[in-house]
Amino acid sequence: SNKIKLGVVGYGNLGKGAVKAIKATEDLELVAVFTRRDPEALELDDPDAKAVHIDNAGNYQNDIDVMLLCGGSATDLPEQTPYFASMFNTVDSYDTHAKIPEFYQMVNEVATKHHTTAIISTGWDPGLFSLNRVMADAILPNGENYSFWGKGLSQGHSDAVRRVNGVKNGVQYTIPSEEAIEQVRSGANPELTKSGKHRRVCYVVAEKDADKAAIENEIKTMPNYFADYDTEVNFISEEELERDHSKAPHGGFVIRSGNTGEANKQIYEFSLTLDSNPEFTSSVLVAYARAAHRMSQENQFGAKTVYDVAPAYISPRSAEALRRDYL
Ligand code: NDP
Repeated sequence: SNKIKLGVVGYGNLGKGAVKAIKATEDLELVAVFTRRDPEALELDDPDAKAVHIDNAGNYQNDIDVMLLCGGSATDLPEQTPYFASMFNTVDSYDTHAKIPEFYQMVNEVATKHHTTAIISTGWDPGLFSLNRVMADAILPNGENYSFWGKGLSQGHSDAVRRVNGVKNGVQYTIPSEEAIEQVRSGANPELTKSGKHRRVCYVVAEKDADKAAIENEIKTMPNYFADYDTEVNFISEEELERDHSKAPHGGFVIRSGNTGEANKQIYEFSLTLDSNPEFTSSVLVAYARAAHRMSQENQFGAKTVYDVAPAYISPRSAEALRRDYL
């Protein structure tokens, strides 16, 4: 077929999302999912999909156009991206912001040497948020960028809540402060502290007979995690937790407020509201797979970021259709 052939490396939240996202396209097809675990034991959601051990990925160089790397940023991608970029075009979602420069350098060396195209750090942040920070900054030099995250489920803070004495289960959402967002939208260019930008909301299932007031107090005064924030604690039942809080929502805002001319206020805003962070993130990876394939066909080798990829490269539509329907 004429479809672009994809492999998915790693079958966690992102890998599962990637398999679903590929299914939703007409121009892309999944060849196999590669895993470090026993492929026989992997239960794939898609009955047509095939699981292969990661050690055999090298045999697929002629069958796969782009590998979607769905491993974790902490320890998987620093190994997997250079390894796969030596054999395949790749797309990943490396999100350790502070280390992106050295990650880029390492991947660029491998991809340049092996004539592959490796698009790094796609997703939404880094990814779509990065694009919007750059666009807003380029257009409004006289201004200030603000990024807010949430409403989002935070794994680290949820763990901290669950460690409190008397807590059976619980989750924590990070929520951008409406007040801070309104200030930014008004063009006031406020100086915002971390705790001034976000508040924290907890949903807690208490053990039977636990002292709820003590739990609430311990959470709200927990240093580093909650003490500096406006924190809300809600007690709910196990059923409610299961019913209302088992998804992984996320999202946020990139806002730039600036001035042009004498004193004309200009507000640039981009926002995302996501029911499922991993399904959205992997949908971004899948779209960028088109770009990796097309750019490699044009011999644009090396590591690339979202800044290097023209929007037409990620679209399934022709250049003519884009000019006609979307310009
Ligand atoms: P997971 O922890 O779900 O998966 C990471 C890897 O762990 C998988 O590739 C898989 O590899 C292995 N794994 C998954 N489940 C199991 C299991 N049950 N037992 C053993 N191993 C397992 O991470 P996510 O998919 O949620 O996230 C991946 C990365 O995506 C994050 O680290 C983050 O950096 C990035 N991300 C980026 C975003 C952005 O906007 N740029 C947004 C969201 C996430 P294998 O199959 O080989 O065992």
